[in-house]
Amino acid sequence: FRGRRHCRNTHAREGAYTVITVQNLRKEYGEFEALKGISFDVPKGQIVGFLGPNGAGKSTTMKILTCFMSASEGSVTVDGLDAYSESTAVKAKIGYLPESTPLYSDMIAYEYLEYVAAMRGIAASEHEERIRNVAATCGLKTFIGQEIGTLSKGQRQRVGLAQALIHDPPILILDEPTSGLDPNQIVEIRSLIRSLGKDRTIILSTHNLPEVMETCDRLIVIHQGEIVADGTAQELEEREATNPQVFLTIRGDSVDGDHLHNAIAQLEGVASVRCAPGIEQR
Ligand code: ATP
Repeated sequence: FRGRRHCRNTHAREGAYTVITVQNLRKEYGEFEALKGISFDVPKGQIVGFLGPNGAGKSTTMKILTCFMSASEGSVTVDGLDAYSESTAVKAKIGYLPESTPLYSDMIAYEYLEYVAAMRGIAASEHEERIRNVAATCGLKTFIGQEIGTLSKGQRQRVGLAQALIHDPPILILDEPTSGLDPNQIVEIRSLIRSLGKDRTIILSTHNLPEVMETCDRLIVIHQGEIVADGTAQELEEREATNPQVFLTIRGDSVDGDHLHNAIAQLEGVASVRCAPGIEQR
């Protein structure tokens, strides 16, 4: 984290009402445990970056938060509503940009947004105004009459954000919103997310540390289904400076886990060694 201090200051929002509460969330896909009991709270108005490598569990968490998938265990509360038993009300409060938005390539962008508005239960008489508003917010005006299949990746991502905003939700969940974009498009989408975050609570996922540093108030780092760090960039920098954590992945057929564990523990400056849950120490 050193040398990066662009992260937005979250302290102005301290003491805010907690809008999302995640408690001991577990998800199993068959035998595989993708989430191993994660817990966190998100105060109203915060922009949270969910950071982690491929397969860490980011999309799984987002699908559960947005009621697209149920958890194996644990609970999610959104604005006091249970995401499992009150999922319709929770969905109305959330705008979701999935990792791959189902944008229909032969539809005109305007028609697609009309379709999403109808799916959201918005009265037909309101569609035009709603679409005009999201088109202005997301910068769609110049290509809203174009077929989705002919749009650039960045333009399509803007349409994806517009569909997430069509019902004017107070919470946005954005799964890798800048993935696959070129550097100019990344700058544009980040700035759009920052402006959306002025009056919304946002959780976005990314593999990209600069992304969270530039866009978010707070980072939650997830690794192998566990939260391994949670705080502002400054807090994580301070922790890194005073008590750094090093994650090692050691592969091989003849690795002696106990021997390695003991050898690492005896190194100068190593305070403790822990084998990640779910990893066999052989
Ligand atoms: P990425 O950054 O690559 O999108 P992620 O952090 O979003 O990764 P997830 O998509 O949540 O990770 O996946 C977490 C783990 O769960 C991965 O090991 C993945 O292979 C596994 N997984 C996800 N969905 C399923 C599924 N439907 N069936 C079985 N395993 C799954």
